[in-house]
Amino acid sequence: MSYVEELSKLIDNRKSASEEISDKIWGYAESRFNEYKSYAEQAEYMKKLGFKVTVGIGGEETAFVAEYGSGKPVVALLGEYDALSGLSQEADVAEHTPVQVGGDGHGCGHNLLGTASMAAAVAIKDYMDEKGLPGTIRYYGCPAEENAGGKAFLVREGCFNDCDIAITWHPGWMNAVTPSGSLANFRVFYTFHGTASHAGGAPHLGRSALDAVEIMDVGVNYMREHMIDDARIHYAIINTGGTAPNVVQAEAQVLYAIRAPKVTQVKELFERVNNCAKGAALITGTTVDIRQVAAYSDYVACDVVSDQIKKHMDELLPIGYTDEELAYAKKFQEVITDLDRGNLKETAKRVAGKDSAKLLEQPIWDFRVENRSGGKGSTDVGDVSWVVPTGQFGAVTWAAGTPGHAWQIVAQGKGPVAKKGMIFAAKVMAATAYDFLTNPELVKQAHDNWLEILDGETYPGALPPDAKPEIW
Ligand SMILES: [Zn+2]
Repeated sequence: MSYVEELSKLIDNRKSASEEISDKIWGYAESRFNEYKSYAEQAEYMKKLGFKVTVGIGGEETAFVAEYGSGKPVVALLGEYDALSGLSQEADVAEHTPVQVGGDGHGCGHNLLGTASMAAAVAIKDYMDEKGLPGTIRYYGCPAEENAGGKAFLVREGCFNDCDIAITWHPGWMNAVTPSGSLANFRVFYTFHGTASHAGGAPHLGRSALDAVEIMDVGVNYMREHMIDDARIHYAIINTGGTAPNVVQAEAQVLYAIRAPKVTQVKELFERVNNCAKGAALITGTTVDIRQVAAYSDYVACDVVSDQIKKHMDELLPIGYTDEELAYAKKFQEVITDLDRGNLKETAKRVAGKDSAKLLEQPIWDFRVENRSGGKGSTDVGDVSWVVPTGQFGAVTWAAGTPGHAWQIVAQGKGPVAKKGMIFAAKVMAATAYDFLTNPELVKQAHDNWLEILDGETYPGALPPDAKPEIW
């Protein structure tokens, strides 16, 4: 048997334990920095298996690292387990039916994400026990990927400083190596303070914080014409200052997400958005507090790590699905919106060209997509990729066309396609980790390649020094 087959077998041996952990985390559905049960599920399991587990790394109570082996190289497998707010949904039901209205749900598949990385680390440990492999395998349980960029805090605190290689994945509907290019992203609160007054009797004595928010938003919306095409700015008004129109609003707050391909570009836009806020304060006679709470860096793929991942994906694909599983996926494909169906068609054209009609007949895309685009989302894996040569990939865990951050993902998160994808991802990661643990020359190649790609640039980490990992 090849090492890929042997590692795969080790992963299959513990498949039911992994599936159980993933299902439990799906059920806990804990959102950012609240993942107490979720992290414990993995940390306890790994501790029992003999990993050295350190909880609360980088000032994050729900972060942990589990380590096995000793010395160099140090290969890090990154996992996540945070859910999304408002996405509660029953499992396996192709209809929007929340378990708890307004509750949280795993709308990004992080129950699978963390568990696969954990399972890969465990398989390497089992293999180390059998074969005596060199080096150290680490699983990083990383909280709050969504909305807080938890890994940026871990990077700032030096948690990855002695790592040689980092490997991770993300659930999705395409098997593909992730190219460089997720967007850097700042999260910023703008809180305006004005003066309350009787809006009918004495409006001239009031200064409206809500007016300031509205004027700021108008200013930013005008900015859009004069910024780079790839930038994205979105906002949510968190506090309107009350529900009474006859009281001048003394306080109002808006949360901004400012994204662009590079951190330097986000910084530039951030300054301009700040000026809109200050201008709005000046216009309305209010004051504004600006508080940046999170920063994601863009993702830089290390080609040498990506190539190893690619090789193993090709060895392990196709996954193979039963008629029942295909029918399960079809059921979910039928409930996507027309807009999502349009996106699926466009993607099929890009992936399969003139054969796209044929591809669209397949509810599960059981092959590796070569030309996946970088996407316009953000991930805090970006921060790790600036301090450790990193490879990342997507694996199929749900029906083709399933929209991101949606109830359909929650619904499929415990299903057969999700579980097969999770196990496949674990196998790819374990095989890739093995390559680097046993081949110092490959580690060096990855490091050289990574330095070449960075081309003299260093980590642009943009968290303000006083920003803390917290629930805001
Ligand atoms: Zn995600």
